[in-house]
Amino acid sequence: MIFSHSSPPPSMDLANPGPIHILGAKCPLYPQIPLAKMTTLRVGGVAEWYMAPRLLDDLYGALAWANSEGLPITVLGAGSNLLIGDRGIPGLVISTRYLRDYHLDGSLGIVKVAAGFPLPKLAWELASRGLSGFEWAVGIPGTLGGAVVMNAGAHRSCLADNLIEVEVLDSDGGIVTLPRSALGYSYRTSCLQGSSQLVLGATLQLQGGEDPLLVRRRTDKHLKQRHGTQPYHRPSCGSVFRNPKPQAAGWLIEQAGLKGYRVGGVHVANEHANFILNSGQGTAQDAIAVIRHVRDVVRHRWDVELQPEVKLIGEFSQDVSDLW
Ligand SMILES: Cc1cc2nc3c(=O)[nH]c(=O)nc-3n(C[C@H](O)[C@H](O)[C@H](O)COP(=O)(O)OP(=O)(O)OC[C@H]3O[C@@H](n4cnc5c(N)ncnc54)[C@H](O)[C@@H]3O)c2cc1C
Repeated sequence: MIFSHSSPPPSMDLANPGPIHILGAKCPLYPQIPLAKMTTLRVGGVAEWYMAPRLLDDLYGALAWANSEGLPITVLGAGSNLLIGDRGIPGLVISTRYLRDYHLDGSLGIVKVAAGFPLPKLAWELASRGLSGFEWAVGIPGTLGGAVVMNAGAHRSCLADNLIEVEVLDSDGGIVTLPRSALGYSYRTSCLQGSSQLVLGATLQLQGGEDPLLVRRRTDKHLKQRHGTQPYHRPSCGSVFRNPKPQAAGWLIEQAGLKGYRVGGVHVANEHANFILNSGQGTAQDAIAVIRHVRDVVRHRWDVELQPEVKLIGEFSQDVSDLW
C-alpha cells in the first residue's frame, strides 16, 4: 500500500516507517497493521495507519493529523460485525475499543459509557448493581459504540430501548449530543451507519431497585442460551444476514441445504446457518464467495433477497458493490 504523506512527521523514515507519535500523544500511530486479528472473523488486509487510543486527546490528535494529511478515516469498535477486504484499508483506522470511561448514577438508573466499553462487561456490571434492562446484551461481543451504530439487539430488545442520548464527533471536529429520536433507529439500523460521525459515548437508562441476584440470573440465562445455539467462541462475525422478517435468515439458509457449504477456509456453520466460520486460513475473498452463493441459492429457492448485516469495509480483490 502506498503512503500518501504530503508532510511526514520529522522523525519518520519513509523507507522504513515505524510507529509515530503525534505531538504530546501517549498512544502511537502504527503503519501497516494487519487487521484480521482486530476482527472476530479474522480476515482482512492491513491498515495503512492504525491507532487504538485510550485517551480522547490522543483520538483528537490522530484525527487532526489524518485530516491535515488528507487521509480517509475508518472507525472500528471491537470488529465483531465486520468483513474487511483482503487489500486492507487505506488511510487511518481508529479503533475506539480502549475508550472505556464509565459513570453510573445508581439512584436514577442512568449510566454514561464511553464508546469502547464492551457490552458483556457492561451487562454484568449493571446486573451486579441490581439495574435491569440490559441483560439482553451479555452475549454480544462488541463495544457500546458499535452497538449504538448497529442498533445491536437480542432477546427481543435492542440498544435503542435503553438509549437516552449519544455523544458524537462531527467531521469538522465538533462534539454534538444527539437524542435517540435523531438517530433514525429501526431493526439493526441507525442513521449513524455510513455517516462520518464518530461515537464517543452514550447515556443509557436502566431500571433500578431489583435484587442483583435475580438480574444476574437472567443475564446468565441469556448467555447460556447463546452458548447453546451459536458457535460463540469460533471466528465469525455473528449473523451475516439481516432477518427478512417475519422469516429468520438462518432458517431459510438451513432449509436450502447450505449448512457446511464451504469455499476455501470459510464455511456455513452447522450450529447456526446464519453464521459463517473461518477455520483459520480463510480470506475475505472466501467469505464473499460463501455469502454470494448463500444469497443466490436463497433467492432461487425462496424468492427472498437476503441483505447483509455484516459491514463490508476496505478494499476487496473483487467488486462487492452488489453486497452493500
Ligand atoms: C458471536 C457473535 C454473536 C453476535 N450476536 C449478535 C446479536 O445477538 N445481536 C446483534 O445485534 N449483533 C450481534 N453480533 C454482531 C456484533 O457483535 C454487533 O453488531 C456489535 O454491535 C458490533 O460492535 P463492534 O464494536 O464490534 O462494532 P464493529 O464491528 O467494529 O463496527 C460495526 C460498525 O459500527 C461502526 N462503529 C463501531 N464503533 C464506532 C464508533 N465508536 N463510532 C462510529 N462508528 C463506529 C463501524 O464503522 C462499523 O460500521 C454478534 C457477533 C458475534 C461475533
